[in-house]
Amino acid sequence: MFRKLTAVMYHYVRELPYTRYPAIKGLLTSQFKEQLFYLKKHYTFVTVEDCLDNLENGTSLPANACLLTFDDGYIDHFVTVFPLLEENSIQGCFFPPAKAIITHEVLDVNKIHFILAAADGNMDQLVSGIYDCLDKYRSQYQLQSNSHYYAKLAIANRFDPAEIIFVKRLLQVELDENVRKLITNELFRQYVTEDEKAFAKELYMDLDQIRCMARNGMYIGSHGFDHQWLSRLSPEKQEVEINESIQFLRSVHSPTGNWVMSYPYGDYNDSLIEILKKKGCSLAFTSKVDIAHLCNENAYALARLDANDLPKLANAEPNLWTKKLLD
Ligand SMILES: [Zn+2]
Repeated sequence: MFRKLTAVMYHYVRELPYTRYPAIKGLLTSQFKEQLFYLKKHYTFVTVEDCLDNLENGTSLPANACLLTFDDGYIDHFVTVFPLLEENSIQGCFFPPAKAIITHEVLDVNKIHFILAAADGNMDQLVSGIYDCLDKYRSQYQLQSNSHYYAKLAIANRFDPAEIIFVKRLLQVELDENVRKLITNELFRQYVTEDEKAFAKELYMDLDQIRCMARNGMYIGSHGFDHQWLSRLSPEKQEVEINESIQFLRSVHSPTGNWVMSYPYGDYNDSLIEILKKKGCSLAFTSKVDIAHLCNENAYALARLDANDLPKLANAEPNLWTKKLLD
């Protein structure tokens, strides 16, 4: 029985050179179209319902099953992705960050993306601006020295150079939440905009757009409420997050029994999984890079490929991941 699933994780999909922030890391619309052709050639698209059926009733998935997932509720998903998926009769699985959609607050992680995009080509200035902020808050928040943070965090990964990783890790995880927010907001106002609400309305889908997608066969799942690192919360706070996110699913008319989650930052722990089981969640995606294997032991820790792991040309030869699945 086939249980292997290639779930692909997308974020921004837009014509970047024609936007105000061309340095945002995302997939070009043209690349997304090519990737759809590539996937159509080598895979069979499945729906969330097919995956749930596979898990609950043991029905087989087709060979080379593929599910497309879209995190963070960007307007790109409604304007660019949704029409293309509809045209090709593919179900997309969307995970919008509930609170950002409802309150028009920009997620910290997105603020950091746009600060970096606005500072593109002038990273030295951004890093020195961050050092100034650290100096300002050092005694109040018992911060370490600037060189301590740089040496600890500035380590390039497969997508980003060292300076960018330094900014991301410092502002996403390393510092205490309060000071992290203070610095991120200061830089966001300085580099991007003073009008956060207007920016949020441009960046994310609204409730009606999400409802429209749900009405037209797309799947809307939970991405938590406040897009938090969920493993760091107490079980009580985790439960509040999950309850509020179920409320959100209800408000966009998405199923609240046998629902699907995508962990913000791919982050989870055992107590969260217990809560998810209790609240009727049946599947959850991490951001671990691999082919997913659908079975009860893995249901709350499903791997995904990043869009960048697959070729961006329709006629490309099957790459490592595609071959791995075909084996
Ligand atoms: Zn996210």
